[in-house]
Amino acid sequence: MQKKGVAILGSTGSIGTQALEVIRAYPDRFDLQVITAQSNARLLIEQAKQFQPNAVVIGDEEKYQEVKDALFSEDIHVYAGAQALCQVVEFHEVHVILTALVGYAGLKPTLAAIEAGKDIALANKETLVVAGELVTERARAKGSNIYPVDSEHSAIFQCLTGEFHNPIEKIYLTASGGPFRGWKANALKNVTPMQALKHPNWSMGAKITIDSASMMNKGLEVIEAKWLFGLKAEQIDVIVHPQSIVHSLVQFQDGSIKAQMGLPDMKLPIQFALTYPDRLKTDFPRFNFLDYPQLTFEPADKETFRNLQLAYDALEAGGTKACALNAANEVSVQLFLEEKIGFLDIARINEKVFLETPFITNPTYEDYVETDRIARELAGL
Ligand code: NDP
Ligand code: MG
Repeated sequence: MQKKGVAILGSTGSIGTQALEVIRAYPDRFDLQVITAQSNARLLIEQAKQFQPNAVVIGDEEKYQEVKDALFSEDIHVYAGAQALCQVVEFHEVHVILTALVGYAGLKPTLAAIEAGKDIALANKETLVVAGELVTERARAKGSNIYPVDSEHSAIFQCLTGEFHNPIEKIYLTASGGPFRGWKANALKNVTPMQALKHPNWSMGAKITIDSASMMNKGLEVIEAKWLFGLKAEQIDVIVHPQSIVHSLVQFQDGSIKAQMGLPDMKLPIQFALTYPDRLKTDFPRFNFLDYPQLTFEPADKETFRNLQLAYDALEAGGTKACALNAANEVSVQLFLEEKIGFLDIARINEKVFLETPFITNPTYEDYVETDRIARELAGL
């Protein structure tokens, strides 16, 4: 079997490092071609020495010399800057790009990869939130497959395997509810970044952990699901499931529901996105029903966690609304992490920017870029 050439954008992050574990476990299957980081030169250098990719990219150009010097005696190409990400994804030897970088920065290299006809293993949900219509249209035109990595969307995808000709009636995205499940506005007012960064079931990067605490993550996932599976807002339901064992569910037209279950471990969806349609043997711990005699489900509180409602509103409105919401959220989360605003200000800023950013119904790529810029400016004020 020909090895699959893999590029990992964001190899030093939570998804990126777990993807490297998957790559390491199947040397006959994968050929790691490219790894990239934004500023963590030390870890990027260590990974490059260990995995010997064809090329590395460091986003922060000031760290180029450090990486270049450290890899001087290795047979590895070193590049720097955001533009280099768009070039390395086009390499002939790269078959699939795992987008494990965070935020809007994923959009341009993902589009470049699609234009080059490559497959995408998509962790970077913000790309589909910002420009889902454009990205999925280009992927169809270029015959490039988008395989979900997000655990909920991987679950839906796994439930759909063998069912692609059967229409979906609706899907249920499960949500853990995060560290503040059941809390009301009064208690949320004073929570600190430290508290919000403690997720009960998953260990992830800082931005998505805050998004999970504020329910923005589930909102982004609702929009992500629309574009991945071609659904309408009313076909997507969110259900809170604190144990994070049922990763999501699909209901078909005959009323039958399929669920995908397992212990929470991102390595499984990462691996499935890279090996679909095959399932490779793993030694991950197995789920034991008797350890979880009660799996529970409750409604999501869209009133307290406004972000989830805003995401549905963005989905209904279409055009550039979700792009504006995403940009506002990237800024407000950063401000919260820097302790410049309170937890409830995240949704407050998001809503304000959502309402105030000029709206474009049928956006071009340039319209998304401009909307992102304006929304960031409004959010920072
Ligand atoms: P992390 O913050 O842990 O890692 C982000 C990675 O992207 C790092 O390698 C970082 O480099 C790099 N990076 C950051 N900013 C930029 C930029 N502007 N340009 C290029 N590269 C950049 O994030 P996660 O791994 O948690 O998340 C990655 C994506 O996957 C997100 O979109 C997230 O929503 C999604 N996701 C994550 C899950 C998880 O379990 N973590 C689950 C489902 C989805 P450096 O280390 O140098 O900063
Ligand atoms: Mg998820």
